[in-house]
Amino acid sequence: LAKDNRSGFEFFADQINEIFSRRYILEKSLYSALELKQFFLNYQPQIEVRTGRIIGVEALIRWEHPELGIVSPDEFIPMAEETGLIIPIGEYVLRTACEQHNKWLVAGLPPIRVAVNLSALQFRQPDLVQMVAEVLANTKMSPEFLEIEITESVAMTQVEEVIEKLNSLENLGVETSIDDFGTGYSSLACLQKFPIKALKIERSLIQQITKDSGSKSIVRAMINLAHNLDMKVTAEGIETLEHFRFLKRHKCDRVQGFFFSKPLSADRIEKIYESLQEN
Ligand code: C2E
Ligand code: CA
Ligand code: CA
Repeated sequence: LAKDNRSGFEFFADQINEIFSRRYILEKSLYSALELKQFFLNYQPQIEVRTGRIIGVEALIRWEHPELGIVSPDEFIPMAEETGLIIPIGEYVLRTACEQHNKWLVAGLPPIRVAVNLSALQFRQPDLVQMVAEVLANTKMSPEFLEIEITESVAMTQVEEVIEKLNSLENLGVETSIDDFGTGYSSLACLQKFPIKALKIERSLIQQITKDSGSKSIVRAMINLAHNLDMKVTAEGIETLEHFRFLKRHKCDRVQGFFFSKPLSADRIEKIYESLQEN
């Protein structure tokens, strides 16, 4: 059979093989990735709209696979959830982010908040709060500079348990926020019972605001809702000046997105501060 004369099925089978082999390779190598030190964190600056200053960073995990290069968390976090590996990986992220915060302090940077994402499985661990407390103690990180993000979908299932956990985290002095707000169906009545400090508006919603007026109204309403509940609002996925202008006009508190900066290495974050001090 000539190569370009193969049946549709064979072509299909090749594609299936490719998908399965990538998935297979990734899943297999995920087990040893932590030990082999293949993970690292990037940090994306968050800007306070009122002052234009960097007030925090979000820690975002990356996996440098020896054969496949950089693998996106969108691809491997679900695998880590399925295999349970998210537990040690998540702890690594938290510890590394806290250690990095301290390193920046030693390097003379002003203290900035570091936000860490917690996955669904991680958040549901019975000893989550204890784990966070231990990492804070071991790294001597001041809790007020740690922000923990859980997604709207995690927040909105088993609400009573979630509230209890969020309260315990707040009692440690840690800030908590709801990520990807606007993707699911938040019960607004529930929202006021959450002891959270901030809502992060999902980036797809932000990117719609320049396309349709409906999204504009929704984002405006979300900002007002958050403010009425005494919460701050972070908008993520700001890619253009137009996005920024709209959010500034409507009193969004903090913004994060490629318009300001991509996620950067810890060294790059340090360099940004050095250059700010020189000016
Ligand atoms: P997320 O928590 O919503 O993080 C924001 C994602 O949006 C990041 O993707 C970031 O690079 C991207 N982003 C930021 N600004 C822009 C923009 O202006 N335009 C566009 N198109 N994208 C922007 P990333 O780093 O690939 O992470 C994807 C997701 O993977 C995260 O979404 C989060 O759900 C998950 N993730 C990342 N790191 C961790 C982690 O350490 N633990 C857990 N559990 N999940 C993580
Ligand atoms: Ca996040
Ligand atoms: Ca998000």
